[in-house]
Amino acid sequence: MRILVVEDDQDLQRLLKKSLSEAGYVVDVASDGEEGHFLGDTEPYDAVILDLGLPKMDGVTVLERWRKAGRKMPVLILTARDRWSDKVAGFDAGADDYVAKPFYTEELLARLRALLRRAAGIASADIEVGPLRIDTRSSRVTVDGNPIKLTSLEYRLLSYLAHHKGQVLSRTDLVEHLYDQDFDRDSNTIEVFIGRLRKKLGVDIIHTVRGLGYRLDEPSAVGDTN
Ligand code: CA
Repeated sequence: MRILVVEDDQDLQRLLKKSLSEAGYVVDVASDGEEGHFLGDTEPYDAVILDLGLPKMDGVTVLERWRKAGRKMPVLILTARDRWSDKVAGFDAGADDYVAKPFYTEELLARLRALLRRAAGIASADIEVGPLRIDTRSSRVTVDGNPIKLTSLEYRLLSYLAHHKGQVLSRTDLVEHLYDQDFDRDSNTIEVFIGRLRKKLGVDIIHTVRGLGYRLDEPSAVGDTN
């Protein structure tokens, strides 16, 4: 899952990037509204954390422009504690949730997980696919109850596939959601990671859809090509 953080307070921006990275997300950051707007307009993010008070272009305007252009990613706004009118303006502009500053990182992460689940149409914090179970709170993965140890990139890949269960995802889709904008992307590496992930999981739930990409689904679904 790839997250954009638009925040001009450098300390807070660093803290958010660190906490989100530790929670298993890949993170791009922007320090002003113009840069943030550009990134959100051109890169495919799974969610955005958007401060409202920003230099160059305020957060409400950034959000309005995204929505007007049809950008539908979930957006969580950061508002000042005593500015209730900011929350109203933010929601009216298309925000999905908010956290008031100062906030506890745990709360922000929980709200973000909920936004990502909602966007994926998943109601519970545990995602289950056949024998696979992913606890999105702790990033723990089990198959038939047995814990599976994954690297952070393998977890990101699995989590992204699981949030899009049943959908065919191209290698390009996967690369765009697994790496940040500075990474030298090579979609061939995805094949390698898929291979490792399959081996570690030991169950046939990541299906190859020839010429199109991959699909995570129940084992031995009809029409599999691998
Ligand atoms: Ca600010």
